[in-house]
Amino acid sequence: MNKKIEWLENNEGMGLYVHIPFCTNICTYCDFSKMYYKKEWVDRYLKALEKEVQQYAIDVPITTLYIGGGTPSSLNEEQLESLFQILKPYAGRALEYTIEVNPESMTYEKLLLFKTYGVNRLSIGVQTFNEAILKKIGRLHHNQEVFLLIAQAREAGIKNISIDLMYNLPLQTKEDILKDLMIVEALPITHLSYYSLILEEHTVLYNEHFEGMDEQEEYTITEMIREKLEQFGFHRYEISNFEKNGHPSLHNCVYWLDQHYYGCGLGAHGYLDNIRYHNTKQLSAYLNGEFLQTKETIEHKESMFEALMLGLRLANGISLSSFKQRYQIDLLTYYQERLQPFIDQGLLIIEENHLRPTSKGMDLLDFILLELVD
Ligand code: SF4
Repeated sequence: MNKKIEWLENNEGMGLYVHIPFCTNICTYCDFSKMYYKKEWVDRYLKALEKEVQQYAIDVPITTLYIGGGTPSSLNEEQLESLFQILKPYAGRALEYTIEVNPESMTYEKLLLFKTYGVNRLSIGVQTFNEAILKKIGRLHHNQEVFLLIAQAREAGIKNISIDLMYNLPLQTKEDILKDLMIVEALPITHLSYYSLILEEHTVLYNEHFEGMDEQEEYTITEMIREKLEQFGFHRYEISNFEKNGHPSLHNCVYWLDQHYYGCGLGAHGYLDNIRYHNTKQLSAYLNGEFLQTKETIEHKESMFEALMLGLRLANGISLSSFKQRYQIDLLTYYQERLQPFIDQGLLIIEENHLRPTSKGMDLLDFILLELVD
């Protein structure tokens, strides 16, 4: 049982996510809410963002702050400082303050700025250490920049460092993935997000008719990755996320524990008082202060089911007592018919007052979740 996740479970966290949609280059697989960096747009965007953040009049302590993108590190130092000033009132009590960065847009001065404003976690977009593949997916950095950034971040006092890696990439072989894993073993990092490429429509790779691994191949590679990472001291605490020495991403745990969070910025979404909202994806509307696009109330039954689906993504599983306290309903009794077959097959287990996926259950979680939805 991870102590930090257990703490969050018992203390109901509140997250604040801030989206910076600008990138210096566009990756060939990307379908996120993003656009090319342009100084004037960023300046106007930060003004609109300030308005949006202030309009919430946040008066509860923020447990986790997360600046994601896009590429937040594409902002220049002055713009980053304005962003940190906007978020300063909420940073004081945050246990975790993360910013996503890409190696090619980072400098030591930016790291020092992060440190000054209380950022204590870095999430670095690496994707692979094979430079030919990096080029193919539209990434601009070189491996040396990643190594230097990690060393400098540690020197600047930011030691909680996560990297993102991907498999199922074009040109990538099993040997390439093994090489990536060998490099990971030697890096002084605390966290790793490892995702298989999902081919989305309207991306360059999709238009090039790229075909990734078949299901069986992907399953075998996922197994290999998990085994290797476990040998290297990484613990899989969520289907695609691994931590070392007790450093899960607390902010993402707020999502997986179905807790509440503010979401600010273009295309961001939030979840407050059982209302889920989505911001506009249109820059012009956002700059005009028309932030919100949709809003829906999550009814009691739907909320219970979401909590179950999200909770099962975590190796810790879903706390039976927290569920009961929140919904006044016994989870195992209420979902007995749907859950029992998975318990009988050894895919789910009841342990330490939690319903959790077993290791095999985690590998087959997509299948379990699909069955549960049906
Ligand atoms: S840096 Fe991230 S957000 Fe920007 S294009 Fe690449 S994948 Fe998309």
